[in-house]
Amino acid sequence: MRRRDVLARLGPGGLLLLWLGPHQIAHGASIVAVRIWPAQDYTRVTIESDAKLQARHFFVADPPRLAVDIEGLDLIPGLRDLVGQLRADDPNIAGIRVGQNAPNVVRLVVDLKRPIAPQVFDLAPVAAYQHRLVLDLYPTQAADPLESLIAQRLQEAEQAVAQATPAPAAAPQAAPDPLGDLIAQRGQAPALTAAPPAPARAPDAPTPTPASAPAEARPSFAAKQRPGKTDRLIVVALDPGHGGEDPGAIGPGGTQEKDVVLAIALQLRDRINRTQVNGHTLRAFLTRDADFFVPLHVRVDKARRVQADLFVSVHADAFFTPRPQGASVYALSDRGATSAAARWIANKENAADLVGGLNVRAKDLQVQRALLDMSTTAQINDSLRLGSAMLGQMGRVGKLHKPRVEQAGFAVLRAPDMPSVLVETAFISNPDEEKRLRSPRFQADMADALLRGIVAYFEKNPPLARSRPL
Ligand SMILES: [Zn+2]
Repeated sequence: MRRRDVLARLGPGGLLLLWLGPHQIAHGASIVAVRIWPAQDYTRVTIESDAKLQARHFFVADPPRLAVDIEGLDLIPGLRDLVGQLRADDPNIAGIRVGQNAPNVVRLVVDLKRPIAPQVFDLAPVAAYQHRLVLDLYPTQAADPLESLIAQRLQEAEQAVAQATPAPAAAPQAAPDPLGDLIAQRGQAPALTAAPPAPARAPDAPTPTPASAPAEARPSFAAKQRPGKTDRLIVVALDPGHGGEDPGAIGPGGTQEKDVVLAIALQLRDRINRTQVNGHTLRAFLTRDADFFVPLHVRVDKARRVQADLFVSVHADAFFTPRPQGASVYALSDRGATSAAARWIANKENAADLVGGLNVRAKDLQVQRALLDMSTTAQINDSLRLGSAMLGQMGRVGKLHKPRVEQAGFAVLRAPDMPSVLVETAFISNPDEEKRLRSPRFQADMADALLRGIVAYFEKNPPLARSRPL
């Protein structure tokens, strides 16, 4: 057994974790780091150790709490650090307690704010991580992405009212607002038909079961509920890459890809929500709006459930050497990559689930596999058109790494019914571009360029009819 009297480590979240003394060593396992990733979707607790931990867990419904028994002596000091990391505004965790339950067993009790369907699993060492024991705390009443879109719309309306305070109470709902109508409709008529999403293209493609938490209801707003009085809302799914345990690429100055791409996506969201194309209102939908891990197939599934018209995954490129620079745009390929570099990038991005920590025992892996076969030539052609429109605009705010849209087998671009592109905004491995990626000015310019590309695409390719009133 190897004894370490002082263990210092810079965690992936930039936390310096320091414990003193030999007491953390037990049965050959010591805790390397503990992390909490709170989010509305779910909260993850990660216990990283230098050997695999033996754990059993049980859930108590009232009041809701999860108990996890970890075998091995004296793991308490490292685990107690979880208590300090817990945030009061964590949507799911109310408190964390750690105690010695039996001579060889440490019990971790996670008190919960709402009913939870926990997933407890371990992950073998990968990338910079050693062994991870993961507690994923999913609310049993999972958030419906459509609800999120509505909540976001309501928040905007409130802000509009707040900003209009000097004027005598202007009524923000005076303007035509399909989502507003939907909110009103939902308030009056809770009975929703559970119809499958209607693919805009490829009607012969099989309809996937959503890869969602088991207890989730998936309401769908069939056209018959609201005969055709709305204008057509255009929904753009924005997918900030990586998040949570997966930092993405890391620049020479320590900038993490997951942070800069979220910042760009948030700026793009605000722009999209202020934009109209040919009289159609644009609305952005984010696959993640905070720092947490979202599996690749869940990103696609979320976008499909709001019947997004486009899917834009936002990333920052990296290479082993500092020189490569410039932006590039990728679409899916159904017959191999257009270059070795494109294949390399796709493999790198597709590895996100490994680093982020996918529960491979989760049932929805079958759905993930089903999704992999569903791309269509029409989807790819539309994606190439979208990508070209974006590249043309991105070339105005910075250098382009590749002048044409490249193609490879990106897992996150495989939805059959949405034109989907992956944007590498710049090279985070290039010191100059790393600085640019951090700057709000560049983030704003990039968001402007991406918006112009999206608008140009819709001006030439109007959205198709849709079976729901969004
Ligand atoms: Zn990436």
